[in-house]
Amino acid sequence: MSSNPLERLARSFTFRLSVGYAALFTLSTVILFGLLYLLLGSTLRSKDQEIIEARLRECAADYANGGLAALQDFVQRSRVSAKEKSFFVRLAEQHGTVLLLVVPDDWVQFDTSALNPGGDLSRLVWLRIPKDDERDVTVAAMRLPDGTVLQVGRSTNNREVFLQPFRRNFLIVMTPTLLLGLFVGAFFAYRATKPVREVVATARAIIDTGDLSARVPASVRQTELEDLARQFNRVLDKNQALIQGMREALDNVAHDLRTPLTRLRATAEVAVQATSDPAAREALADCVEESDRVLTMLTALMDITEAEAGVMRLNLGKTSIASLLKNVIELYELVAEEKHITIITEFTEPCEAVVDATRMRQVFANLLDNALKYTSEGGNVRLSCAIESGRVIVRVRDTGMGIPAEEQPRIWERLYRGDKSRSQRGLGLGLSLVKAIVEAHHGAVLVQSKLGEGSEFIVSIPQSGLET
Ligand code: ADP
Repeated sequence: MSSNPLERLARSFTFRLSVGYAALFTLSTVILFGLLYLLLGSTLRSKDQEIIEARLRECAADYANGGLAALQDFVQRSRVSAKEKSFFVRLAEQHGTVLLLVVPDDWVQFDTSALNPGGDLSRLVWLRIPKDDERDVTVAAMRLPDGTVLQVGRSTNNREVFLQPFRRNFLIVMTPTLLLGLFVGAFFAYRATKPVREVVATARAIIDTGDLSARVPASVRQTELEDLARQFNRVLDKNQALIQGMREALDNVAHDLRTPLTRLRATAEVAVQATSDPAAREALADCVEESDRVLTMLTALMDITEAEAGVMRLNLGKTSIASLLKNVIELYELVAEEKHITIITEFTEPCEAVVDATRMRQVFANLLDNALKYTSEGGNVRLSCAIESGRVIVRVRDTGMGIPAEEQPRIWERLYRGDKSRSQRGLGLGLSLVKAIVEAHHGAVLVQSKLGEGSEFIVSIPQSGLET
């Protein structure tokens, strides 16, 4: 998985949704502008053609009534008004001889061959001769009844006057439109995906902390995504109830089994003394040993439940954690020697804290037991203790097999045993007990581990009793 923030942003659903919104917004604006532009262009053109056609018909009528002289007279008369000056009038005979040519002042030179369109001139024929990018010359041509060709044209800059500002404004309008689209899109996408983010955050919190009571914050809105969050919460409720039920069943079984098992053990112990048959003695001794194992397990289970429920009785007293650790190391010296594991200690100060010494000894014994158990021959285990801002920090670090990242959150669960650890003795309760006891002291325990390199368990407890 890449951790590059830019890549993560690009992959984010919210980001893609906002870009999508912005693109759609921009595209619709472009299409709208384009349609308006075409519409405006064609309206301007037909308006121009209307005017030219009217003038052509007037000229044709004059010519029909009074011949060339009448037409000339009409054209001269109309040239008095500035508006009318801009008309181009040309009358040519069939074989090309020009009979009349009136060119307006702003008329430009162009290839006159363009004025001989040829083809069927019995109907009105339109010619458009572009002058430059913005202006063009529009000419209407028609064959008159005597065979001459009458052409009336006009140079228009309507496109320049109307369309150019339109195009310029388009660019000016597009920039804020794009930004607006992006911001509004980002806002809506962010709001719309909020329930999804909350579901992810809740799922992550449950996985990271193991706290089954985490829920997606309630919302009054009724959208599909809010419904997803609500249904997700219902699944969590059901899961929590199931897990709670399983735990209670386990606690009840542990509780109910303890008394008969203690009695069984006592009976076997008495029988060992009473019998002289070696085979029976051995079998009964095994019974005592196995009963002890199960009793330890049942006691651990009940201790965990008590500690988690906050009803564990703690005999608090000022204790030197360093001395406690030394006691525990003494207990395990032999095991370490057998496995050729060196135990290194770093205790620079007594590290006093108000704790239940017996319970804390259990914590460190479990951690050291694991460290020795999961480290192969010739490795080493380092124990340190220090005070950091009012808390005692104990580190138990080994050079053992390490714990895979995906297993790390699960090692604190009751009866959980790592895949690679099955070959070792153990009940999968040690770390659950460690966590429960440390938390009953308002402390915290965490693990840092790399597969094949080793693990470090860090316990942090407040020095001054049960304060946080
Ligand atoms: P277990 O009885 O199996 O040791 P624990 O609750 O003490 O049960 O530990 C749970 C699991 O955590 C173990 O099965 C093992 O996979 C893993 N584990 C605990 N401590 C270590 C360690 N120091 N090195 C490697 N794995 C460890």
